[in-house]
Amino acid sequence: MRRDLLDLLRCPFCGGRLEVVESLFHSCEGDDIVDAILGCHCCVYPVVAGIPVMHLDPAAVAAREEIEAGRPDRAFRRMFALEDEGAAARFEEVAVSTAATYREAVDALGPRFEGGYFLYRFSDPTYIVAEAVVRAVTAIVLPPDGRAIDVCGGSGHLTRSLVGLSSRAPVLADLYFAKLWLARRFTAPGCEPVCCDGNAPLPFTTRAFQFVVCSDAFHYIWTKRLLASEMMRVASPDGAVVVSHAHNARQWNPSAGMPLPPEAYHALFEELAPRMFAESTLLREIVAGGPLDLSGGHPRDALDAEPALTIVATRREDVFRAHRLPAPGAAAGEFRVNPLYSLEADGEQVRLRLRFPSDDYEQEYSAARLYLADDFIIARTEISALPSSRVPAGLDDLARRRVVLDLPKRYY
Ligand SMILES: [Zn+2]
Repeated sequence: MRRDLLDLLRCPFCGGRLEVVESLFHSCEGDDIVDAILGCHCCVYPVVAGIPVMHLDPAAVAAREEIEAGRPDRAFRRMFALEDEGAAARFEEVAVSTAATYREAVDALGPRFEGGYFLYRFSDPTYIVAEAVVRAVTAIVLPPDGRAIDVCGGSGHLTRSLVGLSSRAPVLADLYFAKLWLARRFTAPGCEPVCCDGNAPLPFTTRAFQFVVCSDAFHYIWTKRLLASEMMRVASPDGAVVVSHAHNARQWNPSAGMPLPPEAYHALFEELAPRMFAESTLLREIVAGGPLDLSGGHPRDALDAEPALTIVATRREDVFRAHRLPAPGAAAGEFRVNPLYSLEADGEQVRLRLRFPSDDYEQEYSAARLYLADDFIIARTEISALPSSRVPAGLDDLARRRVVLDLPKRYY
């Protein structure tokens, strides 16, 4: 973690500033704090492999004791909570290899880790809507010297769309240390990961961020009243709070969590007069090439009938209009074929076939068929231009349809 993150970081329990406890073991590289103990008025927290751990789960306490004892390697192992020494050693082998890919690291974390779903994240309908809303709203509310936060952001797929939008690194907050580590290493290099619990006060100072987003996670939080208040507290008065892909309690969902009906989500963010949108309507606008219409908010009956909702809460009236969708520009990573496709060479042509990783995935993300064609053929010369830092000539349409994706380097 960069040392200037301490200006934003606060204890979730006493609200106090945190400082490195200089009398205990610590290691720094330039402006980065790598392994250390942070202290406030009430408590001590470890920084493990450059990630501050701002909660008191048993693994965090054990890791803090290892850092205090001068054993950062063992603190690292504690935070990954791998089942046994063999699994830990296999993961650490991948972790130190500069040639390792995101997929290899996820595989090394074992079958309990929800890896498959994340590998295909960049083309799933949930992500596509969240990313488009993030781009539209940040263009209005996030100034060049501003800062954004992705709350419960997992392994940083959406965080990646925030990197580079402002000069200050976006913060990625999540409870799972392994996901944060994957994000910083592969998915969203340049983000500032903070390990914290969405069911506790957020460990940040008030009005720290111009843009606050939580995607596909709010319904898994038990203390929703607290998290909504906290997201509004850490947002600046001229900033915006966005909750994307919030499950609707009125509709069935295969991984429902603890969803609320639309009016209950609205009530949680009432002080910012939120507008609410049916995700499937936004997706259709995006697939059609835009614009993304955030002007009105969708009517009550449309929200009731919708499996997942997008909530935009801000005092900035200029957010609530139709937004043009930007064309794909330079890659943050590299343009490659979507990993959902298998490729078969056939002379001068290549056949691409859509292969969902499981029936469950296909059922949950069936809306992907709106833009991902089942089966088609393109010239070998066109596809041979990949991977590429820009969309190669002739592949624009495939990029718009997410068959060709801007993926992190060393992704799969
Ligand atoms: Zn404290």
